[in-house]
Amino acid sequence: MVTNVLVRLRKRSSIAAGAALLGCFMVQAALAADCPGNPNALGTSRTLVVDPREHPRIGTMQYPETLPLADHEVVLTFDDGPLPKYSNQILAILASQCVKATFFAIGSQARANPEGVRKLIAAGHTVGTHSQNHPLTMNKMPIDKARQEIDDGIASTLAALNGDKSKLAPFFRIPGLMRAAAVEDYLASHGIQVWSADFPADDWRHISPQRVYDLAIQRIEAMGRGILLLHDIQPRTVAALPRILSELKARGYRIVHVVPATPDRPATPTQPQQWYLRPPTETVAISRWPAIPNFVFTATKTLPAPAFSDTDWLDAEILDHAQRAHVVPLSRTQWPQPQLAQTASLSTLPIAAASVFRIPEARRLTLLAARPRRPATQAWSARQAKHPRQAVHQAPGAARGKGALPAQHANAPAQQGNPIDLANLRKRSPRAEATATVKRVAD
Ligand SMILES: [Zn+2]
Repeated sequence: MVTNVLVRLRKRSSIAAGAALLGCFMVQAALAADCPGNPNALGTSRTLVVDPREHPRIGTMQYPETLPLADHEVVLTFDDGPLPKYSNQILAILASQCVKATFFAIGSQARANPEGVRKLIAAGHTVGTHSQNHPLTMNKMPIDKARQEIDDGIASTLAALNGDKSKLAPFFRIPGLMRAAAVEDYLASHGIQVWSADFPADDWRHISPQRVYDLAIQRIEAMGRGILLLHDIQPRTVAALPRILSELKARGYRIVHVVPATPDRPATPTQPQQWYLRPPTETVAISRWPAIPNFVFTATKTLPAPAFSDTDWLDAEILDHAQRAHVVPLSRTQWPQPQLAQTASLSTLPIAAASVFRIPEARRLTLLAARPRRPATQAWSARQAKHPRQAVHQAPGAARGKGALPAQHANAPAQQGNPIDLANLRKRSPRAEATATVKRVAD
């Protein structure tokens, strides 16, 4: 039975995987056919419309949410342009693969190269902004200054587009990803979406194009989908990009183009969990410690005393005994407060004085006497206890003439009124008595 189920599941999995693979090939074939001049182009598989107000911060490098991409879907982003020398090459590479991307322009670059901004729009890419001067201190600069950087960057880029706001996406990437809550709040209040990323390729570092390629592919493969952060002002990026795109195609990846929602272009319907790279699943058990309940009585210093009616004491005798004990009335009883030991804070304890271990002679004899040695032990009677000296002389050992105990030993138990095995004591040497005393104390 179980085997049949497993076989059926395997068949279903195979069918599903086959269908997904077939769909992937169909999409790739369609994309290649849609890219004139390059039948092997990577292409752009779909356009994703997002509403910045619904998801103001994206990119798992810094935020819980990221774009709602399917497995093997990648969004390409380029920062810091436009810089004609390299940005134009990036545009050409993307065009050859019919790939659409998102560019985050720096305001000062847009002022210097407005034509470069217009080229991005003309090629069908999405253009967001990246501040005016690319300060790497937006995480600690005064918010007024950060606002100025944001506003000026938008104004400069808009100026390159002749003020056409419909051509500028409300997307913003904080320079150096130096995020700050005040900056994010300001952007969100203006309906601007903060874009972090899911993986960079470190192309701003002094590394080789090969290294940029390796990092890009490795990090994409590690996450399976997400936003790739690149820069269109770096020669190593220009050198690495063709190989990155061809490798993505070879590995079955698809490029997604992201555009902002408008009144005429509603957001692509998504489920909330799609905005998480690894959404929590209900099929996997997650152990969580239970929350400690906030009991009302934890704030009180005393607890209510129980009444007899709360107990199951049905025995009238027990009840009567307790009432006759005249202890503290139960109605006034309070639970004892914990007392902190004064020695708790000490690292050492005081050495006990030798006198602590000294046993008074009377007690020492009592201990010895209390140890039963033989069944024939003769205990003192109440009358004998009143006359210890006489009792000693009447003890069995004494009667046999084997010597008597010193008077001091004989007197002690009499003062305590305890029965004494005199016969046993008389047989002990002083050394044996000392040993027995120590042993008794140790017990
Ligand atoms: Zn940048």
